[in-house]
Amino acid sequence: MNIILLGPPGAGKGTQARKLVDDHNMVQLSTGDMLRAARSSGTAMGNKVAAVMDAGNLVTDEIVIGLIREQLENTSYSGGFIFDGFPRTLAQADALNDLVSEMGQTLNHVIEMAVDDEALVGRITARSTCGNCGEVYNDATKAWPNNGKCSNCSSTDQTRRADDNENSLKTRLLAYYKQTSPLIGYYYATGQLASVNGLGTMEVVAGEIAGVLDA
Ligand code: AMP
Repeated sequence: MNIILLGPPGAGKGTQARKLVDDHNMVQLSTGDMLRAARSSGTAMGNKVAAVMDAGNLVTDEIVIGLIREQLENTSYSGGFIFDGFPRTLAQADALNDLVSEMGQTLNHVIEMAVDDEALVGRITARSTCGNCGEVYNDATKAWPNNGKCSNCSSTDQTRRADDNENSLKTRLLAYYKQTSPLIGYYYATGQLASVNGLGTMEVVAGEIAGVLDA
């Protein structure tokens, strides 16, 4: 089972992907995480994309398609792949079709997580993650524990993303509507699209996604 989680920044794609990894033994492929890892290890590519990411613009198709190709070639296939934050353009969607069919696989579901813009701004500006295990926190609904330690792994490394600020978010939202949202029509036309309401609690949204996967 291979799926795409599609939605604007802050829709909860990463949170739901982590849950699918735990519950269904799937493999999360997040191009955002791959790019952040390249930046923090200081590779030439990481340095090249840093300013683009901080401003909230999209990195070139060539770079992200290359990253996904490399991961697909080097990751053993278990319960399936969750594409999180990829594809984000029509060219990336076409490339993913080719990659999946080269592997003799199919793309089973594209799940759109719909959340209104005002909720996104609130979620993103309140968001932090554990720098060690990636657990996601929200100042209002799931605050970083008072003892200063991640509830999942006890690390004290609470991290806020450089691009989780109102300015970058405006650019990220524009990029989403201009470049990524046409994919909703694209996957509707291929018959692979399902939509869930991303505004509910983590468990409610997870239940809706499970409903799509079981259908
Ligand atoms: P994310 O963690 O998915 O919100 O991605 C963070 C940033 O990484 C984005 O704002 C882009 O600058 C870049 N990025 C992640 N995935 C892609 C992609 N598929 N295509 C282009 N840029 C991407």
